[in-house]
Amino acid sequence: MAFEGLADRLQSTMKKITGKGKVSEQDVKEMTREVRLALLEADVNFKVVKDLIKRIKERAVGQEVMESLTPGQQVIKVVKEELTNLMGGEQSKIAVSDRPPTVIMMVGLQGAGKTTTTGKLANHLRKKHNRSPLLVACDVYRPAAINQLETLGQQLSMPVFSMGTEANPVDIATKAIEKAKEEYNDYVIIDTAGRLHVDTDLMDELQQIKENVKPDEIFLVVDAMTGQDAVNVAESFNEQLDITGVVLTKLDGDTRGGAALSIKAVTDKSIKFAGMGEKLDQLEPFHPERMASRILG
Ligand code: GDP
Repeated sequence: MAFEGLADRLQSTMKKITGKGKVSEQDVKEMTREVRLALLEADVNFKVVKDLIKRIKERAVGQEVMESLTPGQQVIKVVKEELTNLMGGEQSKIAVSDRPPTVIMMVGLQGAGKTTTTGKLANHLRKKHNRSPLLVACDVYRPAAINQLETLGQQLSMPVFSMGTEANPVDIATKAIEKAKEEYNDYVIIDTAGRLHVDTDLMDELQQIKENVKPDEIFLVVDAMTGQDAVNVAESFNEQLDITGVVLTKLDGDTRGGAALSIKAVTDKSIKFAGMGEKLDQLEPFHPERMASRILG
């Protein structure tokens, strides 16, 4: 499970301070030192850690702790709140267009879990929000990607719009939206092409799709197992496409958690969903507070 190492370390650090009837500056210093090391070891971005520790320190030696009857617990509350804020505070929702269909563009590197997440998201929208999505195969470079989406559509009994590998992705996306209007599909989820690395051809194509279809959401799918790389990928996709949210996949693996804890701070875009397995129902809305509670025990 994700975050195990980080959770173990933070929980033992917090244990030392929980019952304290008085918290000295020295206690805070030791606690923040351990938190800092634990976060760095979990592969959280260096600058993110620095800023976070500064905020925790300021608050932990401040009035809210000193005047509290249970200062030890108050310090832990501060750490939990700051971890929650780091991951984005309140969980944010998916846009709903007042002129349906709502268009969601899925972007990301190859292998991140984009196609799988397209299926999972469609399933989520139908199950939890009673929507009827149309899935769109815009990865024209890999016939396997189109087949994969069609298979997901069959498993979900949901329509998939594809024009094969010869058509232009902008045309496919545009026609798919017309089709969704005719068929009363209220969401259109576009599975775009990925590459092994961020490159200009890929970004040009994604920008063209964006300009033409004006999506309500652009979700970047990143693999949590890739740690700091995931953060760098998020930074460059955000610069080029101004994404609206992130889906972090493979959080069921033994990721150290650095990506989950750095992406919001680095890109200022929230993690909206977490992929927790390969199955179509293994997508969960990302709740920063619950995640912070899980990490701190
Ligand atoms: P794409 O190239 O970005 O479209 O990636 P795919 O959707 O084909 O996914 C790549 C691999 O990651 C597949 O084997 C998926 O089953 C797997 N995968 C996707 N999301 C998750 C997840 O949340 N957890 C796990 N364990 N595997 C995932």
